[in-house]
Amino acid sequence: MVIVNSIEALFKETEKFHGSVGFVPTMGALHEGHLSLIRKARKENDFVVVSIFVNPTQFLEGEDLDAYPRKEEADSKICELAGVDIVFMPNAEMMYEHDELSITAPAIRGFILEGTKRPGHFDGMLQVVMKLLNLIAYNKPTEFRAYFGKKDAQQLALIEQMVRNYFINVQIVPCDIVRDADGLALSSRNVYLSKEEREKALSLSRSLKKATEMVMKKELNVERIKEAMREVLFEVDVEYVALVNRHFEAIEEVEIGNTIILVAASVGKTRLIDNLWI
Ligand code: AMP
Repeated sequence: MVIVNSIEALFKETEKFHGSVGFVPTMGALHEGHLSLIRKARKENDFVVVSIFVNPTQFLEGEDLDAYPRKEEADSKICELAGVDIVFMPNAEMMYEHDELSITAPAIRGFILEGTKRPGHFDGMLQVVMKLLNLIAYNKPTEFRAYFGKKDAQQLALIEQMVRNYFINVQIVPCDIVRDADGLALSSRNVYLSKEEREKALSLSRSLKKATEMVMKKELNVERIKEAMREVLFEVDVEYVALVNRHFEAIEEVEIGNTIILVAASVGKTRLIDNLWI
């Protein structure tokens, strides 16, 4: 495995690739969720690249850019053990110039849910993903796949749309959410949670479980499901509970096989998101 810290070094290394490339973009502080993406990429491709970059343009004023956990050494070890070929760790200076052109998230899908609460976040996210896809595929691999978690469901939908709208030559591979044994969806931000907060945070996955139980009992009415979920979420500061179809359009009834149930809530100072695809 090689760790590359410059774009020139990245191009030199990817020039050696003859075959398919699987790419996993991350912000580091790697956990089992990230690892599941890396393992899938390893299984499905000749070469695997992981990027670790805490991208400043997707953090809003007052968010946790400076405090975001950084664990470069441990992350490199994890990647090495997982059979990664290249770890790309750029810095902001080499990724951006002054007065850049920008990408704007679509007017509807980009400005609901996470887009309402974090205006500008998706613009920055799409901008860096576009750059990273172009960088990793610069030397034209025979096949190019990029792996993203369903944990960030709206992000995934927007990346799929960007690839469609800009005709980017990549296959986006959605990957299932990895959870701790108690149900909490893994996130680099979970380290911020105290023991008590972690206990409260479990209500997010519990609310999704409650929704599943209702659907299994043939309760498909969105308002009633949301109401029942909010009852489970009494100990956290709920930002939104939403049910949408796979295109992120509002729905009134659950359609099995085409519905995503999403929840966002803060526990103390930590903002958490979770979702379930049914
Ligand atoms: P991040 O480092 O938070 O930007 O995440 C990098 C990638 O890992 C994104 O595609 C996330 O959706 C994915 N990811 C993060 N947490 C999980 C999880 N618990 N299960 C599956 N994928 C995840």
